[in-house]
Amino acid sequence: MERELSQVLTQCHHLTRPYRIDSGDGFRLDRIDPGDTLDLPSDKKAAREALEQGVQMLSELQQRLYAQNKWAVLLIFQAMDAAGKDGTIKHVMSGVNPQGCQVTSFKAPSALDLDHDYLWRANQALPERGRIGIFNRSYYEETLVVRVHPELLAKQSLPPDLVGPKLWQQRFEDIRHYERYLSRNGVVVLKFFLHLSKEEQKRRFLQRLERPEKNWKFSAADIRERGFWEDYRQAYEEMIRETATAHAPWFVVPADHKWFTRLVVAAAVIERLDGLDLRYPEVSQEAKQALAQAREQLLAE
Ligand code: ATP
Ligand code: MG
Repeated sequence: MERELSQVLTQCHHLTRPYRIDSGDGFRLDRIDPGDTLDLPSDKKAAREALEQGVQMLSELQQRLYAQNKWAVLLIFQAMDAAGKDGTIKHVMSGVNPQGCQVTSFKAPSALDLDHDYLWRANQALPERGRIGIFNRSYYEETLVVRVHPELLAKQSLPPDLVGPKLWQQRFEDIRHYERYLSRNGVVVLKFFLHLSKEEQKRRFLQRLERPEKNWKFSAADIRERGFWEDYRQAYEEMIRETATAHAPWFVVPADHKWFTRLVVAAAVIERLDGLDLRYPEVSQEAKQALAQAREQLLAE
């Protein structure tokens, strides 16, 4: 098991290193090719097997996380439409005990949400200690869709004096501090941007239109947002520059090949969980005696 683990971890590191952003200074999105697969052969069977191995590892680590009940893990997923957030979450978490995991999808804010500060709803959805929480979209939308569509900001009823030219810089600063705060409280934050090319998005939208079983996934709004591709790209780039930190890194994951995206995400989570040195709680000598007694009692029945 230990040898196998160290092998897997070496592979994990190889998979994540090119995409992990610990410091956003000077970061440029065009440095990472959405079609990249690190020259791994596109052998679906081998990729499936590697992912299965990763999922197994994750399941084992998650059991320890749950038993130890000290750390919470927050995985944030951001991407353009059709980049594969849902599929990645489904596959990577497929081996994890549902009791130790929760997914929250952040849609357009409700009237109640809008009556609060923008971190309010996210804060309520944070994972408990011992659990993995997944944000399918997140408070980062406040620097993405809200930035690309200023009319959304107008709906937030902020006091006018607080809406100035520094608003976005202030949001980045607040998010950095928030994530620092979380990390100081035992919440491990990992952020994934699934980096899709515009051509691949077109191909996937066409599939949604042409294949009846995929029709339900299509939304006219997605085509509308596609029209703002360049604005989103800039917003994503700046968001990563401003909020990538060592304690809450961004992973800019190539997303044109789904099998590769899933491997990189699984690798990043495994690597981080392994670094937490998760252990099953030690059973004290007294507790061991109590266990032995209970066992004898049962056997004597
Ligand atoms: P799918 O891949 O299934 O389409 P999705 O994450 O795109 O999943 P949708 O219901 O299609 O889910 O879209 C959610 C929408 O909510 C997105 O367009 C997103 O930009 C928007 N949204 C999320 N958070 C906010 C926010 N804080 N302010 C405004 N809009 C938001
Ligand atoms: Mg959508």
